[in-house]
Amino acid sequence: MRKNIVAGNWKMNNDLAETQELLSDLKAQLVKEPEAEVMVAPAFTNLYETFRALKDTPIKVAAQNMHQAENGAFTGEVSAKMLKSIGINTVILGHSERRAHFGETNEILAEKVNAALENEMRIIFCFGEELEDRKNEKHFDLVAKQLKESLYQVSKENWENIVLAYEPVWAIGTGETASPEQAQEMHAFVRKDIAEKFDDKIAQNVSILYGGSVKPANAKEIFAKEDVDGGLIGGASLKAVDFIEIVNAF
Ligand code: 13P
Repeated sequence: MRKNIVAGNWKMNNDLAETQELLSDLKAQLVKEPEAEVMVAPAFTNLYETFRALKDTPIKVAAQNMHQAENGAFTGEVSAKMLKSIGINTVILGHSERRAHFGETNEILAEKVNAALENEMRIIFCFGEELEDRKNEKHFDLVAKQLKESLYQVSKENWENIVLAYEPVWAIGTGETASPEQAQEMHAFVRKDIAEKFDDKIAQNVSILYGGSVKPANAKEIFAKEDVDGGLIGGASLKAVDFIEIVNAF
């Protein structure tokens, strides 16, 4: 059976001292063994400190991005090998902010996906439509294209290292969430698409997270949907008490 996962994407927030404070708050708030797998993704400068601080807890640590090359003349970039050398085995790829502000195309993302998997890393692959796509009823086509062009080149064996995150762009940081029904509808569509392109077992086993204005107040009803296996949390993951409340929605 597929895993429930709650992951906090801290984005470009918190310096070292603020990260240390959040980490100690998280440890204090985590009073019971979580039912879901829990992860946080700090900025690169805080990754190692976060990894060290959470080593003896159930909370895992992910990176927010990586470069597809092994090493070389790519000023400002970080490779899979570098991440692995500090204990980081999971990376978020394809976040809409990377697509929108840093020119990450489906083609580049396919290269990143391949590089991560070749390095035996686990991926949280983000996808999702913009408001315009949904208004034009193109959201299913758009999502199918994102998955086809960046992800479906992988082998069947790779799927055990892939987690999906549906993040409709119009719901990110806007306070406007997709309704539980809208999330369910898209997740079921994606699972069916994977069953058709790969097989039903893979489709049933892959965890599909929802992201976009998930808060303690709405987490339970979103996570209750059959094809929603957890959340990728932005703003609400920056406050330990809120994040752990979302984790405890399972
Ligand atoms: P918010 O929860 O702040 O809407 O962000 C969602 C997100 O982008 C997680 O990756």
